[in-house]
Amino acid sequence: MLWSFHRKFMAHNFVLLLIPPDVEKHHLSEYCQELLLPLWSEYDFPPLTYPCDCNGLGECIKYANTNTKHFHQYWRSYKVIASEYRPDWSEYIGDWENALLSYSKNINTADPSCDRCNGSGYFTSTCYPQNMYDYWHGHKGEDLGKIAELKEELNTHERPKGIQLHVFRLIPPLQKPFMFYHVVTSDGLPYNRWEYSSAEKWFEAWQVLVEQWQNSRVVRCLVHQ
Ligand SMILES: [Zn+2]
Repeated sequence: MLWSFHRKFMAHNFVLLLIPPDVEKHHLSEYCQELLLPLWSEYDFPPLTYPCDCNGLGECIKYANTNTKHFHQYWRSYKVIASEYRPDWSEYIGDWENALLSYSKNINTADPSCDRCNGSGYFTSTCYPQNMYDYWHGHKGEDLGKIAELKEELNTHERPKGIQLHVFRLIPPLQKPFMFYHVVTSDGLPYNRWEYSSAEKWFEAWQVLVEQWQNSRVVRCLVHQ
């Protein structure tokens, strides 16, 4: 389980933000903040009720995110509505919340001795319980240029006992190769390396993103998780 080793000890990771080509240079850092801040573990959303950890929280969030839209896509599209026209958040996120809570009712594993929910199976929070990072280094980010100009590199390293280690890296023009573990597209959707079973799958996911967001700029940020 090599990946879990990495996950435990590599506390600082790169996030790549895919920025639409029409965002002007002097608006870039503001745009990056708007995209990345909602993924901070302490970012304040209007309160929602979530199933507790003892009641399948992770599975329920995954179900709601894949069967409606991702929570962060809802938030992103909500935030770009002019404030005077914005509906109530709980109404806007209604489909997602219904999916979340109906799925948790099927699981129904609430633990009577749970400290968090006292056995109710639910808690209310203003934080999204599965957010990406606890702090972000420098709220600016580094502009790596056009997505099409980043070279891709998928290497195989031989390890003892016949184990092969695959490493996927990107190479910006005139810079060193680097690994990254997250991408956020301009619609707010986060991608996470650990949701893919291998470096090859992560590489394939990246290639789909390059195709889908082919005119984007890439800004690299460093987060701690
Ligand atoms: Zn609980």
